[in-house]
Amino acid sequence: MGIRFLAIILVAIGLAAGLPAQAAPYSGPLFDAHLHYNQEAWNGQTGPHPLSDVLARMQRNGVRAVLANSRPNDGTRALAEAGAATAQAGVTVVPFVRLYRDRADYDNWFRDDTIYQMVQAELARGTPAGPYRGLGEFHLYDSANANGPVARLLMALADNRGLAVLAHVDDVAIDLLMANTPSKGQQTRLIWAHTGIGGAPVARVDALMARYPLLMGELSYRPGLTCDGGMLCPEWRALLLKYPNRFVIGSDTWVNQRWQYYDELMQGYRTWLGGLPPEVARAIGWDNAARSFGLK
Ligand SMILES: [Zn+2]
Repeated sequence: MGIRFLAIILVAIGLAAGLPAQAAPYSGPLFDAHLHYNQEAWNGQTGPHPLSDVLARMQRNGVRAVLANSRPNDGTRALAEAGAATAQAGVTVVPFVRLYRDRADYDNWFRDDTIYQMVQAELARGTPAGPYRGLGEFHLYDSANANGPVARLLMALADNRGLAVLAHVDDVAIDLLMANTPSKGQQTRLIWAHTGIGGAPVARVDALMARYPLLMGELSYRPGLTCDGGMLCPEWRALLLKYPNRFVIGSDTWVNQRWQYYDELMQGYRTWLGGLPPEVARAIGWDNAARSFGLK
């Protein structure tokens, strides 16, 4: 009788433990570490998403800081210049220098010396929200272009000045970009946009995290990240638990549609963050990016 009762209790405990999808969503602060405020969102005159609109979206989603990089840089400057409005919304702006003045620069920045000059001029100029903290986002559709002359110059510049770099590249290009830095990637603050949008295997991501101590992974658009119920797939959950201080979240508002669905994007993050231990959820949702840029 006693043993039978014990067995029933053990079965009940097992059933309760087998329901991780019931976890409450993460409710702490979010750091949007991949945000664009591009020309088509709002060019200072027209557009569907003026400053008041984007700040309201951040505020109602508990987004307390943003890594801002925009095409052209005027969008980031608009956020940086709106000190009173961003303070009222409770949003800290961390500005990055975008390498693109227009769409044509996407395919040429890595060999175009005028981009290097533009970056140096922007860094010297700074923003009302403080100095630029990083470079990017930049894209490499052919990873070999990581060896382009301007790509090399910019990686060395970032390494020497302690600037972060937001790079939309494949895993091969991560190694090439790191090899082109003075520290050979040992002191390079590279944020890997999407952590491999082409779906680099988790084992490969793991190996790169182990090789480069300051490499961070940003998780928008990452294939295979979430499974049933919008919760983390098992191999990604294991990777995030292995490197709890190395991942961040972002909206990637590269087209206006991403602004339209900003609430759903942030709710999606809160859903799967809620399935992690609270301290890990807080690290990925806020602390990792906040620590990286010296925010409280
Ligand atoms: Zn982007």
